[in-house]
Amino acid sequence: MKAPDHVTVVGGGLAGTEAALSLSRSGVCVTLCEMRPDTLTGAHRTGNLAELVCSNSLKSVDPETAHGLLKEELVAMGSFVLEAAFQCRIPGGGALVVDRDRFSSTLTTRVNADPNITVRRERVDRIPPDRPLILATGPLTAPALSEDLLARIGSDRLSFYDAISPVVDALSLDLSKLFRGDRYGTPGEGDYLNIPLDEEDYRTLVEDLLHGERVPPHEGVEDRPEALRAFEACQPVESLADSGPQTLAFGPMRPVGLVDPRTGRTPYAVVQLRAENREETAYNMVGFQTKLRYSEQDRIFRKLPGLSDVQFLRYGSLHRNTFLDAPRVLGPDLSLRELPGVYPTGQMVGVEGYTESIALGRLSALYLSPAPPASLPPATTAVGALLRALVPFAYRPEALSPGPEETAPFSPVNLHFGLFPPLPARVRGGKRERRRAIVDRARRDFASWWGSPRESLLPEESGRRHLSPERR
Ligand SMILES: Cc1cc2nc3c(=O)[nH]c(=O)nc-3n(C[C@H](O)[C@H](O)[C@H](O)COP(=O)(O)OP(=O)(O)OC[C@H]3O[C@@H](n4cnc5c(N)ncnc54)[C@H](O)[C@@H]3O)c2cc1C
Repeated sequence: MKAPDHVTVVGGGLAGTEAALSLSRSGVCVTLCEMRPDTLTGAHRTGNLAELVCSNSLKSVDPETAHGLLKEELVAMGSFVLEAAFQCRIPGGGALVVDRDRFSSTLTTRVNADPNITVRRERVDRIPPDRPLILATGPLTAPALSEDLLARIGSDRLSFYDAISPVVDALSLDLSKLFRGDRYGTPGEGDYLNIPLDEEDYRTLVEDLLHGERVPPHEGVEDRPEALRAFEACQPVESLADSGPQTLAFGPMRPVGLVDPRTGRTPYAVVQLRAENREETAYNMVGFQTKLRYSEQDRIFRKLPGLSDVQFLRYGSLHRNTFLDAPRVLGPDLSLRELPGVYPTGQMVGVEGYTESIALGRLSALYLSPAPPASLPPATTAVGALLRALVPFAYRPEALSPGPEETAPFSPVNLHFGLFPPLPARVRGGKRERRRAIVDRARRDFASWWGSPRESLLPEESGRRHLSPERR
């Protein structure tokens, strides 16, 4: 594609702001449409660009965590939003915690002062004809625009509610207590790992689900009619328990057709674990979307056989979220297959979390810039691991049979080590050593893809860090 000299960006949140500033630095003119302050979402409170809707933490800066690594890469890639976050940092231990008003005001001032960016304060109700078009309207996209998008890409390709089951680290499972098998499949073979429960285990679980502490809904966000519609279709596991003591045993935990090869018997109930990726480094607890507090998920699910030492890569949750079915709607150039030249980005494309959304905004701008990289970032890097979760086919040009990422229903991704490909060789030591090896590999591969020296994330350096210019 010929490099554009103008791009329209709809949505001035974290991703849209990052994309607009990044494009401007590449010499591309931008029109940025933002509906606030005239139309607010249920969570935004101001007219500022890049407003943080809830917590003021962008999570860890420790480069040995997945989020720290992502920040390190984004800093090297010259992310404006991350730069502003470091400028507005306030004490928060190992996390990047910001003064939220200063953060969003800093970025708003910066965008308003940018001669390449025109800000239009207007709500966009239909996909405009402008191309290229970046859609960055986020989890709370205004309803008319969502409806228009739905009509153009197909009703089953955009969701309004996000029901996430916990995802666990495969290496933290006690496999001696689990067995493989699909319902009605050959005992001992199959795609699922099954956690067998006897009647007492099952009753304990149901009691715990009934009495575990739950997260209250976000006021003004989860009381929207479209959210409630989806809520009925995708019940949290504790709501199923509320509806009767046997509902789970006849629902997601039904053991029918499953025989534990160690006992030759069908368990009273099972919890099924399904691989999250081809390499089976992470497993999803099928049907266990939940509004239990994270600490309660730890307490309750660790009682299950084989999960006593489990490490959660991601906790379960259920909340309002507008997101696309990325692996099915995106093309290899990250634009919509049905609408060439339209590039969804940020949370709506299927990532979750502030830093992930910033990363997508930066990547969208990068691939629309006059000098895009020749390839996608390697899957072994943090930005590449995120992208691979969205467009797995683009990382397998040899078009092998679809992986679990493409056959399972898509749910939004936040970055965790389970998204990274496994290490080629066994690493001596424990979890820490394995993670360090993943980080070392990511740094090496990022440097050869990006080609610029890595920068440190030491807090005292953040204020005077000179970010690398767009690569030419
Ligand atoms: C209630 C809630 C709480 C959250 N809490 C956290 C948290 O604590 N930590 C975390 O990491 N993540 C959290 N998230 C996720 C968070 O929203 C995203 O991580 C991030 O803000 C998404 O960035 P974005 O740029 O994609 O969307 P946003 O930052 O939401 O930006 C989208 C922008 O598009 C604008 N817009 C929408 N529709 C239109 C339209 N039709 N025309 C013009 N403009 C439009 C909106 O006004 C908004 O400014 C939360 C999400 C929600 C909904």
